[in-house]
Amino acid sequence: MIKVYNSLSKKEEIFKPLKDKKVAFYVCGPTVYGPGHIGHARTYIAFDIIRRYLEYKGYDVRYAMNITDIHDDIITAAQMQKTDIFTLGNKYTKMFLHDQNNLGIKKANFYPRVTENIKEIIKFIQELEEKGFAYEKDDSVYFDVSKFKDYGKLSGIKIKKAKTGTRVETDKYERKEAIDFVLWKKAKPGEPFWESPWGQGRPGWHIECSVMIKKHLGEQIDIHAGAIDLLFPHHENEIAQTEAIAKKKPFVKYWLHGGLLMINGQKMSKSLGNFITIEQVLEKWDSRVIRMFVASSHYQSKLNWSERNLLQAKKNLEKIEEFIEKLKTQNVKGKTTTNSKQIESLIRKSKKEFEVAMDDNFNTPEALAVLFEMMKSINPLLDKNKIDKKQAKDILEFLKNIDKIFNFIFPGKKEAIPEQIKELVKKREKSRKDKQWQKADEIRKQIEQLGFNIKDTANGTEVKKR
Ligand SMILES: [Zn+2]
Repeated sequence: MIKVYNSLSKKEEIFKPLKDKKVAFYVCGPTVYGPGHIGHARTYIAFDIIRRYLEYKGYDVRYAMNITDIHDDIITAAQMQKTDIFTLGNKYTKMFLHDQNNLGIKKANFYPRVTENIKEIIKFIQELEEKGFAYEKDDSVYFDVSKFKDYGKLSGIKIKKAKTGTRVETDKYERKEAIDFVLWKKAKPGEPFWESPWGQGRPGWHIECSVMIKKHLGEQIDIHAGAIDLLFPHHENEIAQTEAIAKKKPFVKYWLHGGLLMINGQKMSKSLGNFITIEQVLEKWDSRVIRMFVASSHYQSKLNWSERNLLQAKKNLEKIEEFIEKLKTQNVKGKTTTNSKQIESLIRKSKKEFEVAMDDNFNTPEALAVLFEMMKSINPLLDKNKIDKKQAKDILEFLKNIDKIFNFIFPGKKEAIPEQIKELVKKREKSRKDKQWQKADEIRKQIEQLGFNIKDTANGTEVKKR
């Protein structure tokens, strides 16, 4: 039985999908005006792990993530880079999907883009207007928060009578107050636009998620996730838009919010000069180390990005790798082995404890602790050669199973190693055999200069792209 913390009720609730074992899962996607940063990496890896756990538990998950390719920030960035929003949006959408893949994140079922859904968005706004939840003002359309009685149910922000009728036109707004927000924005001179019943303009930011969810996942969904900084106003506004006209309420059963990522204890921002892109971190760290780092903390917690914390994650991953290496090379012939029942029950216990931790609002640090606890019990047996092949295989099988969720325990598909490098590795191995150590060392340096790392193991030389 899975329990999830629901930001709407502010309680842990038993997870029960709306329909059988089907889970409709939506995550707010990126605004594509620049490279993705490690804050995005944290959010999307954390929800990837949750999605994978639900699938591990036998749920049939449909996963959707929107791509915001029209937004104030995109228009500004396109103007600054002297390009158009489509060229800019395509470039960074491609980069975003590439990053997702490089981070070991499972593909979503749908990646709807705003500019490809303008018709649906106009229709949705028209419906809000017909039902009296939206009004037109100077060729723009606004959502009238005073008409939606439940406004504030997610964020706790109350509608103040005196404030009704005040409007905000920007996509993002900082003020923590209920204010009429824009659904359709009149185009300013030089801005991209689409024709609409209200004249030439473009959608506001919040409406897209209500429209995409309805289109791809239905009127009601099980999980809506996003980083905590989207809770207000974005998610509050999504609820208002959808529930104002939906027949089925509530529109989201469980709201999940991920904690923010800090950089050395500070908020990440371009002005502080501590903005780190996903591409930059992948040059330095293996994606498995990054996933390990994310899983080491609960998804709701603040997570601090620091060299020290990343090194810790790397060390922990190396411990797992050593453990796996020992299991794979375990080769007992005719020696007394450990009682099979003992290993079987240890695996069973670990599996159970792992699931108990994950069932408890996806407590990944606890789940990892179970794994390390198991390693602690088995390592001494491995060192004394007391595990036989069958037992080693069963333990590896267990690890493979939980790696369906973590996706960092085992390396993924090996990157193709170029022929040139393979040749150099062979040459180096020969030099080592011939005890020509200096020559071997020179070749190693040559390989490293070409961007590859090599490691000598009991099974030969391992080559890895840096
Ligand atoms: Zn959204």
